[in-house]
Amino acid sequence: MKVLVPVKRVIDYNVKVRVKADRTGVDLANVKMSMNPFDEIAVEEAVRMKEAGAADEAVAVSLGPQQSQETLRTALAMGADRAIHVVHDGELEPLAVAKMLAGVVGEEAPDLVILGKQAIDDDANQTGQMLSGLLGWSQGTFVSKVDASDGAVRVVREVDGGLETVALRMPAVLTVDLRLNEPRYASLPNIMKARKKEIARKTPADLGVDTTPRLNTLRVEEPPKRQGGLKVGSVAELVDKLHNDAGVI
Ligand code: AMP
Repeated sequence: MKVLVPVKRVIDYNVKVRVKADRTGVDLANVKMSMNPFDEIAVEEAVRMKEAGAADEAVAVSLGPQQSQETLRTALAMGADRAIHVVHDGELEPLAVAKMLAGVVGEEAPDLVILGKQAIDDDANQTGQMLSGLLGWSQGTFVSKVDASDGAVRVVREVDGGLETVALRMPAVLTVDLRLNEPRYASLPNIMKARKKEIARKTPADLGVDTTPRLNTLRVEEPPKRQGGLKVGSVAELVDKLHNDAGVI
């Protein structure tokens, strides 16, 4: 079984995001970038499948600027076998990403594509679903457990108020949720080994995809500043404040 894992380079989740002064977007200058945390979980799952003998090959793919190679090196250091970099500077919307991934799937013929449930920069939660639609493949989204063998995959999905278990025919697209696993840190020897692994380069044109954005961002704003909290001396004072100041009871 072959697993394809799309990984996105995003602003590191520890960074306090700043909006540009002209409010056209987020300031990326000198900001630490890392692999999207949900994609780390996807890579971890693919590597565990290899270690368990359920998968023979895990291939990482990233679409983005030159620096996306660093993200791919992280995936390789975690245990992916090889990587594909579709080089593109500038904005990429989920539909363009899904179309390019469909092109890579056409060339690589994986049995499973495991994506993050969402990228923490655009919070779109669209790419996996669009990819499965474009391919006509089964999809299991918000996955917190995976069991793949003999042409079928059983997944547990995190749904509102509970868990849903579904059986999918392969090939299939999965999008992973936080509780699926805890991704490993790449060890130094594995980081060194990853330097020798192959990263193939492609362009959107090689995959025949027009990447022109279809959405026009009008304005990006920071959330309103939160008011500081305060301590109350008694239940009566709490009730009074909730009633008269906050107006919630
Ligand atoms: P989104 O639909 O933008 O929230 O992204 C969902 C998932 O799609 C991510 O967790 C990645 O697995 C994948 N993805 C999105 N954009 C890219 C990209 N530029 N390169 C590789 N994978 C991506």
